[in-house]
Amino acid sequence: MTSNRAATGERPAACCGRFAPSPTGWLHFGSLVAAVGSFLDARASGGRWLLRIEDIDQQRTVPGAADAILRALAGLAFEWDGEVLYQSRRLDVYRAALNQLRDSGDVYPCACSRREIAARAPALGVDGGLVYPGTCRSGLPPGRSARSWRMLAPAQEISFDDRVQGMQRQDLAAVVGDFVLLRADGQFAYQLAVVVDDAAQGITSVVRGADLLDSTPRQIWLAQRLRLPVPAYAHLPLVSNTAGEKLSKQTRARAIDAATGSPLLAAALEFLGHAVPTDVRHSPPPEFWRWAIANWSITRVPARRSAVVGQRLPP
Ligand code: GLU
Repeated sequence: MTSNRAATGERPAACCGRFAPSPTGWLHFGSLVAAVGSFLDARASGGRWLLRIEDIDQQRTVPGAADAILRALAGLAFEWDGEVLYQSRRLDVYRAALNQLRDSGDVYPCACSRREIAARAPALGVDGGLVYPGTCRSGLPPGRSARSWRMLAPAQEISFDDRVQGMQRQDLAAVVGDFVLLRADGQFAYQLAVVVDDAAQGITSVVRGADLLDSTPRQIWLAQRLRLPVPAYAHLPLVSNTAGEKLSKQTRARAIDAATGSPLLAAALEFLGHAVPTDVRHSPPPEFWRWAIANWSITRVPARRSAVVGQRLPP
């Protein structure tokens, strides 16, 4: 097995960061933590911070959620650079990337249904999904047509040095298998869109929740095969509730109220390991940001995959 060390763990000097929410619901405290961490990390380096609305999965997109997220961010005095990128408007770009991978022999059409895969899958994969058994890798079975397109997973270890979580290694073929880039419902997969868009937006530093740590080797591999630069990665601990569940729409996480202002931002920053002085906590958000940008250090963020948020979360 060869080692494939893609990222160095150092943030590039001229850093460009981003926040890329999926508009599947209103902004909750868990997504606010990712927004705060990525914003501070970019601004503390004097870098740019961009926004991208990941509305590629039409079934999961909630009407009005993207605007509500942008309003909440603006209400908390986040300032982003340039235009917001919407994935739903970029299908041609994803199609071109898939064609490039087809031409380089990295993807193949797959006829398998979920039930067929379940019957033959050797094991459960890293994120609880099925490891694809490779049925269509050397061609579609006679009489079958393509439902999806899959990316060949290399039989090699992908490793990267996460700026928060430390060295990570994953044998893609063993724990993920060949993964879908164009789904049976005709939609492009998140894994493809995120890699194409991070490169298109010139993102050099990805700061996001640790639920995506296990997806990162797939994204590094895709970037390499597409001949795109690989950003540095930092995965922040996920916010979980006292029952140990990740805050999300599924666990009915409460939408944040931007009118709460700095106490809410301070709670997010404290979750990320930074003690916030009382006067800063009660100052207007622009002042909070001045203090936070000057005092941010990613080395204070706990190297944990998740942590429980304190009881006294401001509304
Ligand atoms: N859209 C993803 C989410 O809201 C985040 C993707 C990313 O940061 O790479 O969970």
